[in-house]
Amino acid sequence: MNLSYILNHLGEERENYFNAMTPPVIQTSNFVFRTFEEFEKAIQNEHETSVYTRGLNPTIAILAKKIAALEEMEDCLVTASGMAAISTAVLSCVEKNSHIICVQHPYSWTNKLFNYFLEKFGIKTTFVDGTDAKKIFEATIPETKLIYLESPNTFTFELQDIEAISQFAKSKNIITILDNSYSSPLSQKPSHFGIDIVVHSATKYLNGHSDVVAGVICSSKKMIFKMFKNEFLTLGGIISPMNAWLMLRGLRTLPLRMKHSAESAEKIVHFLQNHPKIEKIYYPFLPTNPQFALAKKQMTFNSGLFSVLLRTNSLEKVKNFCNSLRYFLLAVSWGGYESLIFPAGISHCDFLPQNLIRFYIGLEETDVLISDLEKALEKV
Ligand SMILES: *Cc1c(COP(=O)(O)O)cnc(C)c1O
Repeated sequence: MNLSYILNHLGEERENYFNAMTPPVIQTSNFVFRTFEEFEKAIQNEHETSVYTRGLNPTIAILAKKIAALEEMEDCLVTASGMAAISTAVLSCVEKNSHIICVQHPYSWTNKLFNYFLEKFGIKTTFVDGTDAKKIFEATIPETKLIYLESPNTFTFELQDIEAISQFAKSKNIITILDNSYSSPLSQKPSHFGIDIVVHSATKYLNGHSDVVAGVICSSKKMIFKMFKNEFLTLGGIISPMNAWLMLRGLRTLPLRMKHSAESAEKIVHFLQNHPKIEKIYYPFLPTNPQFALAKKQMTFNSGLFSVLLRTNSLEKVKNFCNSLRYFLLAVSWGGYESLIFPAGISHCDFLPQNLIRFYIGLEETDVLISDLEKALEKV
C-alpha cells in the first residue's frame, strides 16, 4: 500500500455518507438495532460492529485503519492520549508478579507508570541503559514478561538495537513494546524489526497541529483483539469522534510536515554544530554520533527534535538565551506547526544538565529560525 492510498483512500467509504469528500464526525454515544437478533449479533462482535462509542465508532475506525497501515501492522486502537495508549498496552502484557525491563529515562509519565503505579501492584521494573543490548539480555529473569523501548530516547535520543532486542525477546517469549512517537511511521517501522506492539503519542507528529491529545496502539489482530476485549474497554481511555476527525485531517499532511520539520532541523543542527556557544548536540543523525550507523539502519530520516548543551555553567545565561528567542516558543510537547524549546533547567531532573535545551523544529522558514538563534546565542 502506498502512502497516498493510505492517506487519501484507505477506510473512506464515501458512498455511505452522501459521497462527501471528507468523512463525517459520527458524534454519537450509541447505535440502534432493528431487531433482537441484530442486536444480539452486534453485542457479540463489538470489535467489528458499532454498538457503543467506547468500543467502535466509524469516524475513529477510519483513523485506526490508516494508522495500522502506516505502521504496517495488522490492527490499531486509538486512545485519548499517548499515556492512555502506553498504559493500556503495558497492562495487557503483565500479570501478578511480572517483571518488566524498560529503557532508562523513558518519557516522564511512562516512568511513573512503571516506578509508581505498577510497583504498587507488585510488578517490578528494571531500568537499563538501552544503548547496549547485552545489558537488556542480562537483566532478564524468568518472570520478565515485557521489554519496553523508546528509540530514540526522550531528551537525549539514544537508540536501542531494535532488531537484536526483538529477536532475543521472541526467543524468551517476552513481549516488546516500542514508543515510536519521535520517528513517526514514516521514518521508522518497528514491526520490520520484529517489535510486537508499537505505541505513539499521536498528539505529536501524527496529529501535528497542537490541538488534539491522542494516542495509538498498533499490533497483530490477535493481540489487539485481546487488548480491546480487556484493557481497552475496561480502562475506557477513548478518543472522541471529533478529535479523531481532527486527527484524520492532520494526518493528510503528515509527509509534508515531517519532511519540512526534518530537513529544517538538519540545517539548523548544521548551523549549531560549528557555533562556539554550543558544547554538544544530541541528534541521532550526526556522523560523529557513535550510533549513526544504527540510526541509518532503523530510521530513514531524522525528525525535528534534538537537544543541545549550551557552553555555559550559568543558569542566568541559559535563561537569557531562552527569553531572547522570538520564534521558538517555551512549551511542553512537540510535533506541531510551531518551533519550541524545552529547557531542562525548568524540570529539575536529576539526570539532565541545566544547560540542556530540547529543540523542536516546526514549519517556519529555516532562515528565520537560524537568525533568531544567532541573536539569542549572543546572550550566552
Ligand atoms: C508526549 C509523549 C508521550 C505522552 O503522550 P501524551 O499524548 O501526552 O499522553 C509519550 N511518549 C513520548 C515519547 C512523548 O513525547
